[in-house]
Amino acid sequence: PVDTVARFGGDEFTILLDNIQGLEDATQVAERIQQELTLPFNLSGYEVFTAASIGIALSTTDYDQPEDLLRDADTTMYHAKAQGTIKRYEVFNKAMHTKALALLQLETDLRRALDRLEFRLHYQPIVALNSGRITGFEALIRWQHPSRGLVSPAEFILVAEATGLIVPIGWWVLEEACRQIHAFQVQFPTEVPLTISVNFSTKQFSQPNVVEQIEQILRSTGLDASSLGLEITESAIMENAETATMTLWQLQCLGVKLFLDDFGTGYSSLSYLYRFPFTTLKIDRSFVNRMGVHGENSEIVRTIITLAHSMSMNVTAEGVETAAQLAQLRALKCEYGQGYFFSKPVDSKAARAILAAQPQ
Ligand code: C2E
Ligand code: MG
Ligand code: MG
Repeated sequence: PVDTVARFGGDEFTILLDNIQGLEDATQVAERIQQELTLPFNLSGYEVFTAASIGIALSTTDYDQPEDLLRDADTTMYHAKAQGTIKRYEVFNKAMHTKALALLQLETDLRRALDRLEFRLHYQPIVALNSGRITGFEALIRWQHPSRGLVSPAEFILVAEATGLIVPIGWWVLEEACRQIHAFQVQFPTEVPLTISVNFSTKQFSQPNVVEQIEQILRSTGLDASSLGLEITESAIMENAETATMTLWQLQCLGVKLFLDDFGTGYSSLSYLYRFPFTTLKIDRSFVNRMGVHGENSEIVRTIITLAHSMSMNVTAEGVETAAQLAQLRALKCEYGQGYFFSKPVDSKAARAILAAQPQ
């Protein structure tokens, strides 16, 4: 009753604890709130559960403006949220602010990168394991940063997703990749035309007009739908299973191939394999890498391949690095492989040279 509660916006609330003795007092209040929230609410006869993430900032540090205190509490709340379910409150520290600033800077830089066309695509060959021939490539984004050089996607994809920037970036990737593979197809005609795999993020996936946009890109680049594979992770589907179902089937009708990326690292849900029209499972490289010279640790790979084949899907093994791994994957009847053993991801010029060197 003595404290002040205010709605900060949306589903965020702030509580001002006046005249507390120390941090203990604040964390105790946080724990009491969490305790209360473990009980269900009664909404028109339905029991509803909810939860809250709490960020605590103390006014003892040198704040000039109340806004700064609110900002830090808010930053901390997001930290608590990111921690998951175990302890749903956090106390502010300077490192959080530094990190938030760095992310903000990264976001600004990414926006600029998009305007200045600083993104590049690298291409990693995908090889048919029985013939040893390159059947296509996976397009992998790089950021040609003016001062930092080539930046890997691991450093910016998550931020791009969190800020929504992945949507314009992703469309750029798709268009550029389709354009490039079409050029390769013209220069290196094969019985089955070369294919291109493009990573597709959750955010892009939930855009209202994905299918139309993809159709449009295929039309403008002259690429046949059957030459395009979209790599999707399980979490992308999980995040909105309803629209995902529709979209995936529409894409299948369009003739685009659907690949389930990083299989084995997420939920590996079997029901998904039934519900969605995937043509290929990509075994995550962590499983492929673990396979030893004498076939040790190959059980998971074997199981995934058997599973995929029993559901009429192909398998691509990611991260093939040694001849021994290749031999085992062949013996397990895995269709395709990708990895440093064949080639690292390379720029389009080097990719063209690789194709040119391949015997006709
Ligand atoms: P991914 O789709 O699973 O891509 C495969 C990653 O494994 C690539 O890392 C590739 O360079 C790496 N790799 C391939 N063969 C080997 C190998 O033999 N050994 C090892 N150690 N690594 C290998 P990269 O290029 O750093 O990309 C990382 C992730 O970033 C990708 O994982 C993908 O999830 C994401 N990503 C890349 N480009 C895009 C993009 O255009 N859009 C979106 N949404 N995500 C992208
Ligand atoms: Mg991929
Ligand atoms: Mg992968």
